[in-house]
Amino acid sequence: MTERTESRECTLPDMLMQTGTPSERNPFVSARKQLDEAAAIMQLDPATHELLRWPLRELHVTMPVKMDNGCTKIFHGFRVQYNDARGPNKGGIRFHPDETIDTVRALAAWMTWKTAVMDLPLGGGKGGVICDTKSMSNGELERLSRAYIRQVGRMLGLEKDVPAPDLYTTPQIMAWMADEYSFMQGNNEFGVITGKPLPLGGSAGRGDATARGGICCVREAAGVAGLDLSGQRAAIQGYGNVGSHAHKLAAELLGMRVVGVSDSKGGIYNPEGLDHAAVSAHKQATGSVTGFPGASAVSNEALLELDVAVLFPAALESVITGLNAENIKAKIVAELANGPTTPEADSILHGRGVMLIPDLLCNAGGVTVSYFEMVQNTYGYYWEETEVQRRLEKKMKTAFRNVIDTSRRYSVHNRLGAYIVGAGRVADAMKLRGWV
Ligand code: NAD
Repeated sequence: MTERTESRECTLPDMLMQTGTPSERNPFVSARKQLDEAAAIMQLDPATHELLRWPLRELHVTMPVKMDNGCTKIFHGFRVQYNDARGPNKGGIRFHPDETIDTVRALAAWMTWKTAVMDLPLGGGKGGVICDTKSMSNGELERLSRAYIRQVGRMLGLEKDVPAPDLYTTPQIMAWMADEYSFMQGNNEFGVITGKPLPLGGSAGRGDATARGGICCVREAAGVAGLDLSGQRAAIQGYGNVGSHAHKLAAELLGMRVVGVSDSKGGIYNPEGLDHAAVSAHKQATGSVTGFPGASAVSNEALLELDVAVLFPAALESVITGLNAENIKAKIVAELANGPTTPEADSILHGRGVMLIPDLLCNAGGVTVSYFEMVQNTYGYYWEETEVQRRLEKKMKTAFRNVIDTSRRYSVHNRLGAYIVGAGRVADAMKLRGWV
């Protein structure tokens, strides 16, 4: 199996492996390694395995955008539809200066396995635009968002592909995109995009859904590991939508003390605990958690290695690698970010008995409530927040149990367990449809 996989890796067309990053830091290489391992355990037939290693469709787009200074700037972006055997493609759009096609492919693959792990009737996709939102005005962001939808809109639709927010994209950006798509169609089609503001058909409970789902997994994991988390320490890398909600809910729902948090500018640490409302207000006022009074500075690298019970990576991919996995002290690593741990690090953490809750499960609360949003948009009838939370909790608990039971049955780590559940369900759907 390994030999066959390696020879395929070498024969990939150049245009499809263009990032040139070292293999451990190329998320698509990591995503394929994870799939290959699961495929070997499941003994997938070669055609099924090969089809799962590739996106079914992808579009590369170039967009001219009028900037505030009167110049026209050219932006590049992507939309990848990885696999829709189980239902319409679903996955966020991220705006990031370092976006690459391989990152978007990896994220689209992970969405495919994630929707299957959660047993949602959806496939997986992802979009990305190479841009630095921090240096753009609101007007420039709006024109870029609309330009992106004009380019990829023909691939989208409630039955085809439904995007959502991700890194550096917001409910306001989703609203502009839904509006542009509605103009292209000639009627309101708000269901084409999720993570919208409430007045445009957003779902109650979507804002904190990713963090809430992750916290629910941590509670279940602590139960399995026999840990009492109340009063225990936690650290969170990334303080955006997901990370800041995780801070609030870790304190509120688990009674944990969050001692370290960080964002792209750096981190802060206070062994007594950091107050969510105060840190959020500071970030709101200054644009960063750094410089928060009453806390010392900590680098993003050191934050991962703090002495805590639970570590929440909630920023970027490939931050826990073969180089630092030995130094992670957390007993539970809850992957709120997509792809924060490389396959090399997975083996090390597993060998050291760290309970890792893989992204396919841990951050699936977001796509689950996005799916609820699609359902509510289709029915034109909206649930109360408590109803959304009740349904989310039920879905998370069922998926958690399924992943843990599968990992135990095959004697593998939880990521492989999640792959066996997720990729296995996609493989079954492809077979039933007669694709393989
Ligand atoms: P966001 O844009 O709201 O926030 C991102 C945060 O990460 C910011 O605080 C930013 O400063 C920080 N950051 C960026 N680069 C960093 C670095 N090098 N080191 C430390 N921090 C850094 O994004 P988000 O929606 O909170 O998404 C965070 C992660 O969660 C991403 O991996 C995303 O794919 C994943 N995710 C998000 C959702 C969702 O519902 N938003 C769902 C599933 C997964």
